[in-house]
Amino acid sequence: MADDPSRPRVFSGMQPSGEAHLGNYLGALRQWVELQESHECYFCIVDEHAVTGGDYAPADFPSRVFDLALSYLAVGLDPERSTIFVQSDVPAHTALAWLFNSVAAVGELERMTQFKDKSRSLESVPAGLLNYPVLQAADILLYRAEWVPVGEDQLQHLELSREIARRWNARFGEFFPEPQPLIGGVGRILGLDGGSKMSKSLGNTVGILAGPEEVQARVRTAVTDPQRIRRTDPGRPEVCNVFTLHGLFAASDEVEDVATRCRDATRGCVDCKRILSDRISGHFGEARERARELSARPGRIREVLDAGAERARREAARTLGEVRERMGMRWRGLEGLA
Ligand code: SF4
Repeated sequence: MADDPSRPRVFSGMQPSGEAHLGNYLGALRQWVELQESHECYFCIVDEHAVTGGDYAPADFPSRVFDLALSYLAVGLDPERSTIFVQSDVPAHTALAWLFNSVAAVGELERMTQFKDKSRSLESVPAGLLNYPVLQAADILLYRAEWVPVGEDQLQHLELSREIARRWNARFGEFFPEPQPLIGGVGRILGLDGGSKMSKSLGNTVGILAGPEEVQARVRTAVTDPQRIRRTDPGRPEVCNVFTLHGLFAASDEVEDVATRCRDATRGCVDCKRILSDRISGHFGEARERARELSARPGRIREVLDAGAERARREAARTLGEVRERMGMRWRGLEGLA
């Protein structure tokens, strides 16, 4: 159930980049669906994080949020069991982030690897890029979540959330748990170029809701073992990202077969990719069907997000009220002194 205090609480979110791709699914969504069985889950679309770089198109934003929400529901996130919502529908996220700015240090924000990477090439660095991890700490701690499913690249930010919780507790009294990482996703998924992380901005993705023909067309472009020039050349599955993807969608004996037939050159890359495309399309058949039904009544997605936001706001108001109280913002209390 969505509100079940007996279960450990989880928070996680994803930026609204439109339809989810294989990297989003294997790195996070697949794990989120499983977590619903055992945890009380808050799954957010973190739209306020997506504007921190400053470079985005406002006109595309609503459809990016809608398409990601559609992906969430299509893969099996269940609004009856999880709280699914959009960050900007719960103003307490930014309110708490502001209060956390009083315990976060500029020096530690400047040391974040992501900040250094993203700001390096910018002439003028938006303050939001620096404060991004403070908002992330607020996202998690607003729900007093104990567990956060994260990839390796987010561990540093989560450690900062723990530090902010510790520092705030030390100053204003024990209140926030120190959230722990849940490492269960597949980790870094390489894109079809075989060299960089799968990412929409790099154009190296496969959408999870793409139809079989589109999946086939996308996978056909995947980079394979560069030494396998002719079909008769023996291949090296261990250097081929197509083989890695087989490993994430097929049973172990089938994966072994892919490796053997690559090494002894009894199967070419074109056929190998076709088999992978079929597996991917087959895996997401049910999700595509659910997405088709949901797309036919878009009001349903808005309903889910509204109900999730209402639930999230209730929980957030409890935390923010307590935080303000402990930080001395007791305006109601002062009425009695007048
Ligand atoms: Fe990669 Fe398959 Fe080609 Fe081997 S046969 S190099 S695993 S695509």
